[in-house]
Amino acid sequence: MAEKEQQAEQLDVLASTQSVIKIALDKLGYPEEMYELMKEPIRMLTVRIPVRMDDGSTRIFTGYRAQHNDAVGPTKGGVRFHPNVSEKEVKALSIWMSLKAGIVDLPYGGGKGGIICDPREMSFRELERVSRGYVRAISQIVGPTKDIPAPDVFTNSQIMAWMLDEYSRIREFDSPGFITGKPLVLGGSHGRESATAKGVTMCIREAAKKKGIDIDGARVVIQGFGNAGSFLAKFMHDAGAKVIGISDAYGALHDPEGLDIDYLLDRRDSFGTVTKLFRDTISNQELLELDCDILVPAAIENQITEKNAHDIKASIVVEAANGPTTMEATRILNERDVLLVPDVLASAGGVTVSYFEWVQNNQGYYWTEEEVEGKLEAVMVDAFENIYKLAKTRRVDMRLAAYMIGVRKMAEASRFRGWV
Ligand code: GLU
Repeated sequence: MAEKEQQAEQLDVLASTQSVIKIALDKLGYPEEMYELMKEPIRMLTVRIPVRMDDGSTRIFTGYRAQHNDAVGPTKGGVRFHPNVSEKEVKALSIWMSLKAGIVDLPYGGGKGGIICDPREMSFRELERVSRGYVRAISQIVGPTKDIPAPDVFTNSQIMAWMLDEYSRIREFDSPGFITGKPLVLGGSHGRESATAKGVTMCIREAAKKKGIDIDGARVVIQGFGNAGSFLAKFMHDAGAKVIGISDAYGALHDPEGLDIDYLLDRRDSFGTVTKLFRDTISNQELLELDCDILVPAAIENQITEKNAHDIKASIVVEAANGPTTMEATRILNERDVLLVPDVLASAGGVTVSYFEWVQNNQGYYWTEEEVEGKLEAVMVDAFENIYKLAKTRRVDMRLAAYMIGVRKMAEASRFRGWV
């Protein structure tokens, strides 16, 4: 393959996740047919959503819903509102959701949705109309025992509330288990909003133990100040770590003595933008290469590549975003003995508490914040340990170990159902 093509494949998140799935299934001894089943979602719906804009014009938005594999149970995963959403990205994200569900042992397969739009440039009412339009367009294939959406990049509990309301109107009954990440008053769960960051915090703590790093005083860099990044900055700061760098889509802030996290949290807007308020900024690339102990990419895909993997100074990289490190960069970091905690493990706290939310909705009985956190802790620590041990015994990196654990249950369920 020519070098250019190879690089393009590296950045193609679907192709690269397929290549790791293939290796994981081979290592587990599954036949080629299993890979044929797993390499693409079993169902992929593309919808066109007409939306009346505030100025009276109509815009047609494109949306997707991918359902990767429903052998284990209903599919589950967030809905992303972003200008860069694409069919390929949504497919890859649905595969990652299957892996996460397998890793934390939830009774789900993976799903994912997305709408090509820029919510930063849309009004509150336009967002409501696009959210409702999306649910109308996909209502046939979703439901509490079919496919359960949730928040993702640039979507939040308000958007989940509109989607729930639209779904309940269509079905003509209240159905809180249709969607997770809802506001508390509509059947949301305590601890859901900060769950992804909580899970990442737990992985950082476990990884630091393995590397003999004390969290108290450790220097942490976080790329991204959205849902995961901002809560994480707070948790790390509260745990005594020094958050010396953060960033948003427009730039990054650096202070070797530690940033004033409470101030930054106070000033960030709902999209996680805060660096525009400062004159003294550095680039996102410079941020990733800062001298630090722990680096957390918590933004978007393909941030650590073969171009900068050699320049990463951190000894622990914990992926809070989906797909921030390419496969070639994963290889380089492992060679350099950087402990890389992969996305499908590190960011699984969100879907875990989504599962708790769905269980509470089904039972009609609600748990305290302490109960939720205790259960999340048990799940994350267990998942981390299982993957860490498998990586050691099979002499593979943690990403491949995570994929092996992530696909196993889904592959077994598919086999028992007679699909392969
Ligand atoms: N969007 C989150 C993720 O990528 C959460 C999905 C969910 O809660 O279902 O893991």
